[in-house]
Amino acid sequence: MRAFKTLDDMGDIHGKRVLVREDLNVPMADGAVTDDTRLRAAVPTVAELADKGAIVLVLAHFGRPKGVPNPEMSLALVTKPFEGVLGRPVRFIAWEGAAEAIATLAPGEIGLLENTRFFAGEEKNAADVIDRFAALGDLYVNDAFSAAHRAHASTEGLAHRLPAFAGRQMEAELDALDKALGNPAHPVAAVVGGAKVSTKLDVLKHLVARVDHLVIGGGMANTFLAARGVNVGKSLCEHELTGTAEEIFAAADAAGCTIHLPYDVVVAKEFAPNPPSLRTCNVHEVAADEMILDIGPAAVEALGDVLKTCRTLVWNGPLGAFETPPFDAATVALARTAAALTAEGSLVSVAGGGDTVAALNVAGVAEAMTFVSTAGGAFLEWMEGKQLPGVAALAR
Ligand code: ADP
Ligand code: MG
Repeated sequence: MRAFKTLDDMGDIHGKRVLVREDLNVPMADGAVTDDTRLRAAVPTVAELADKGAIVLVLAHFGRPKGVPNPEMSLALVTKPFEGVLGRPVRFIAWEGAAEAIATLAPGEIGLLENTRFFAGEEKNAADVIDRFAALGDLYVNDAFSAAHRAHASTEGLAHRLPAFAGRQMEAELDALDKALGNPAHPVAAVVGGAKVSTKLDVLKHLVARVDHLVIGGGMANTFLAARGVNVGKSLCEHELTGTAEEIFAAADAAGCTIHLPYDVVVAKEFAPNPPSLRTCNVHEVAADEMILDIGPAAVEALGDVLKTCRTLVWNGPLGAFETPPFDAATVALARTAAALTAEGSLVSVAGGGDTVAALNVAGVAEAMTFVSTAGGAFLEWMEGKQLPGVAALAR
């Protein structure tokens, strides 16, 4: 039995008012949604509840209105685009007169409530806002993992006030994260990349105690290389954190976790697309005026061999400055290896992080991974081993 209830545990919900927290915080330009990923992700839960005859009331935030109603951050702007991806009508419901409007909805109909952050008490998880939301519904579904690292009225408080269930998106995310780090098949490899060690210290400390292999790439590898006495030239490097890097090496040793740093790297004297000074060299041969912008092909091949021995991969952070060619090469190559092993059934691969998702899309393999989390901040907090309040509140 799972630690939380799902839509399967709701019983007969015909005619019941179900408050569903979704993440509809989509980017918009000139009145149009520029990326509808979040709208599409909300469809399975909303459609299933409507098909079961519930009166579906979607709760979501939009932008940062900071507790003040703001027409530019009204979810009225998202109603049409949401109808488009759902393929069914959606009634926008303003806060003023919400109860009366909801009373006119029939079973199977869908309402989208106004921005939850128009109330200052939403982000404070204030009792009066929880009361106001709770009065509108009979049951609560949280389908917004990406907002679950915040203890807000609509993400946490409501779960204590109404019978609470995880939506399909939340359920899929929690199941995938459990397979990757909660209760994974060993050996487990973690790949951590990205620009800076300082933003991922807690991630690294949590992972060394749980995984068998920790692969460090990206700009943060430079700090670890520097701690090992490597001259990293002009590379992005947090020299003040080499002591912390030493602590992480020691913690890994104590826990039986092997840390993998690159043997070879791709360097250039200037950070530009395909710069004339581009070359690949051993990590010990970086010149004083060069910077490391990607890990090298020998390192990538060695990492592929590590992945072949593993059953689980959890990945956050690109291995190089992937936005600028050819410094995406290592990330793309490792992503393809992970995708191939996943397709063969030998690897469970879970990845997340804003730039990581972008990099996997560049490699064209996002679909080929077992699960890709688009949750950003919530995914990172989970990688740090933190309890997410929105998830904890769903515990049976
Ligand atoms: P995520 O958003 O997936 O958590 P991060 O934000 O931590 O990832 O890191 C992504 C950034 O790290 C990218 O902008 C990438 O260009 C940068 N980066 C990776 N490797 C290097 C490097 N060697 N030098 C400079 N920047 C790098
Ligand atoms: Mg990022």
